[in-house]
Amino acid sequence: MSLPIVAIIGRPNVGKSTFVNRLAGSRQAIVHDQPGITRDRTYQEAFWLDRDFIVIDTGGIVFDDDTEFLPMIREQAMLALAEANAAILVVDGQAGPTPADEELANWLRQQKLPVFLAVNKCESPDEGIMFASQFWELNLGEPYPISAIHGNGTGDLLDAVIAVLPTAEELPERNEINVAIVGRPNVGKSTLLNAMTGQNRSIVSPISGTTRDTIDMHIEREGKEYRLIDTAGIRRKKNVEYGAEFFSINRAFKAIKRADVVLLVIDAVDGVTEQDQKLADRIIEEGRSAIIVVNKWDAVDKDSYTIYDYEKHLRDRLYFFDWAQMLFISAQTGQRVTKVFDAIDQAAAAHRRRVTTAVINEVLEEAIRWHSPPTTRQGKQGKIYYGTQVSTAPPVIALFVNDPKRFNESYKRYIDRQFREQLDFTGTPVRFAWRGKKVREIERNPNRATKV
Ligand code: GDP
Ligand code: GDP
Repeated sequence: MSLPIVAIIGRPNVGKSTFVNRLAGSRQAIVHDQPGITRDRTYQEAFWLDRDFIVIDTGGIVFDDDTEFLPMIREQAMLALAEANAAILVVDGQAGPTPADEELANWLRQQKLPVFLAVNKCESPDEGIMFASQFWELNLGEPYPISAIHGNGTGDLLDAVIAVLPTAEELPERNEINVAIVGRPNVGKSTLLNAMTGQNRSIVSPISGTTRDTIDMHIEREGKEYRLIDTAGIRRKKNVEYGAEFFSINRAFKAIKRADVVLLVIDAVDGVTEQDQKLADRIIEEGRSAIIVVNKWDAVDKDSYTIYDYEKHLRDRLYFFDWAQMLFISAQTGQRVTKVFDAIDQAAAAHRRRVTTAVINEVLEEAIRWHSPPTTRQGKQGKIYYGTQVSTAPPVIALFVNDPKRFNESYKRYIDRQFREQLDFTGTPVRFAWRGKKVREIERNPNRATKV
């Protein structure tokens, strides 16, 4: 089931993250507890009254001079808006309207979606009304005075927001799979792109009328839809400005962030390089599903390697990536390119998969029966009460335990492996949140914690 999306927009330091944390509440804490998750994580689940939705936070980027970086804020905002059903522009009530607010407001007014204006840092109701009144000039309708820190005013604002959001039933089922193709220059990304798209391609930009810089390509194959992300970036290397070997890791990182499935293309002749490892690390950090596409297999001397030996050799250099399928293809001859699509479908399904609490606990019980949790030197034994999947894309499984410190890394890895072996999570990273404290809170309201 899909959920409506609300984008939070605003210049730095107006309180976007504070506001989003308030909306997302304790659920987001579960995800943030995990190591390796960046603070600017974009998608969070939230709810107000009986309505669930997703908030996209465009915060996380903080600069000293906001006007200078407006294009960057706008770019972030643009990507967020492409998927959103409503937007909230957050401004700083104590600072009053700034040119940057004005510019964002002008731009937001041209977008085809409802926009709400949240005037933050209005702790006192009287002052709040005064602060808020300065923002009528942004022409975004009624300014709502709020305090993200204390929560006042957010109720009225959210009442208005949920009134315009489509219900889950009204939203189209999201079938399109976002695919990013990344890898070093000359590994064969463009050739693969051509092999995948063939004749039936159409070009789509994230939002019509926006920068021509990122160009996505939409393709349909056997009734399924795929969006190939930032295909302009894939072809960019020929650009004289950079020279042939320019490798925009930043651009690759952005594409990874927007993807459901990342194709990490590796040159079969060169093997795994340090740059490939960097990309792999980022894919894991962002929680994207992935396929390792070993290209130019036609050019490898098959007498010196079997696929089996070669795969082992490559995997030794891609630690923590054992969940990703590895395909040996030739983009140039088209050999096994259809397998890439099969692997994408599988990885995307695993990424979005939701496993019931009953099944999670069956796996857990079985795992504990084979191998009970360790006992610390002080004689205290770890105890796992139960588990539940708290989030998808990537799957996050929360395990409620007496004390997370009683579980060593080797036991954690064992549990991870059990879940992978028992449930089909091929192609997606799975995260585990070992929770010691908030057990009671979740227990009181188990549906809240598992609903999406
Ligand atoms: P972002 O850059 O827009 O995400 O802003 P942050 O959420 O990081 O907040 C920027 C600063 O504003 C921080 O120092 C917050 O503590 C402060 N802040 C956020 N919300 C409020 C609020 O409601 N009232 C006041 N007085 N300060 C706030
Ligand atoms: P990109 O920089 O990653 O987009 O790489 P290109 O698609 O431009 O390919 C770089 C070079 O590798 C070109 O000369 C391609 O013809 C060649 N190439 C691409 N795929 C294959 C393949 O499957 N086998 C062989 N032998 N060469 C390939």
